[in-house]
Amino acid sequence: MNAAVPDPLAGYRIETEPFYRPAGNEVALYRQAYRHRMPLILKGPTGCGKTRFVEHMAWSLGRPLVTLACNEDMTASDLVGRYLLDANGTAWHDGPLTLAVRHGGICYLDEVVEARQDTTVVIHPLTDARRILPLDKKGELVRAHPDFQLVVSYNPGYQSSAKDMKPSTRQRFAALEFDYPDSGLEAEIVAHEAAVGFDLAAKLVAIARCSRELKHRGLDEGVSTRMLIYAGVLIRDGVSPRDSCEMTMTRALTDDPDMASALQGFVAAQF
Ligand code: ADP
Repeated sequence: MNAAVPDPLAGYRIETEPFYRPAGNEVALYRQAYRHRMPLILKGPTGCGKTRFVEHMAWSLGRPLVTLACNEDMTASDLVGRYLLDANGTAWHDGPLTLAVRHGGICYLDEVVEARQDTTVVIHPLTDARRILPLDKKGELVRAHPDFQLVVSYNPGYQSSAKDMKPSTRQRFAALEFDYPDSGLEAEIVAHEAAVGFDLAAKLVAIARCSRELKHRGLDEGVSTRMLIYAGVLIRDGVSPRDSCEMTMTRALTDDPDMASALQGFVAAQF
């Protein structure tokens, strides 16, 4: 890029390698999909590494990554942009999706089903051969930069069926399935991220694995890798293991007294 022209995606570039431990051949499969700029769904439970994976891939492909956490208040304008008042009147400001489409970033829509329906309408023409983004309010049709790719994440176990991804949307994407890594790998990840010893990390992972057995038997989700990292960080700081687990896992996961005591039992078995 010409040095005189500021790079609109400069703030989205990932300079240092994000730590990511692959669980299978997902790195090679992503690279292959990216060669064709194929839209991708990353499926899997919360906190299992989907975001970290896409950060790692964006870094390794040398592409800027525009991440948007979707929620029910998010509108299409939050994605594509809007006219805003400034000193000279009103001026159009590209939204984060438009920036990625125009300038060749990877756009990652985290928890896409949380966003309102009108956002789905916006992404459809980007996910087929047209690769266009209509900016209705501006009267512009943006053709996607050759390096642009759309990636979305989706947690199939968590959403109510009302929030399932519509078939007309999901069939536009190729999908990679994620899950919590096996025990040894997960302990390695927790040890690295929380900067704790492997043995402590392995105990935390053992608690998580028991909790995951309770999924759909009273818990929506078991303890995630992210929660284990939080617990590890508190323990490293000197908080007792039981208090750390209580705070980051038990209280965070459930309000139900029976479920809480089941989780406390798993913690007591390790600490
Ligand atoms: P998700 O996007 O699936 O909700 P994240 O990518 O935010 O989950 O993962 C939560 C945390 O767990 C990350 O910040 C990272 O510290 C850690 N993590 C999970 N899986 C991995 C992995 N395979 N390699 C490295 N770190 C991981």
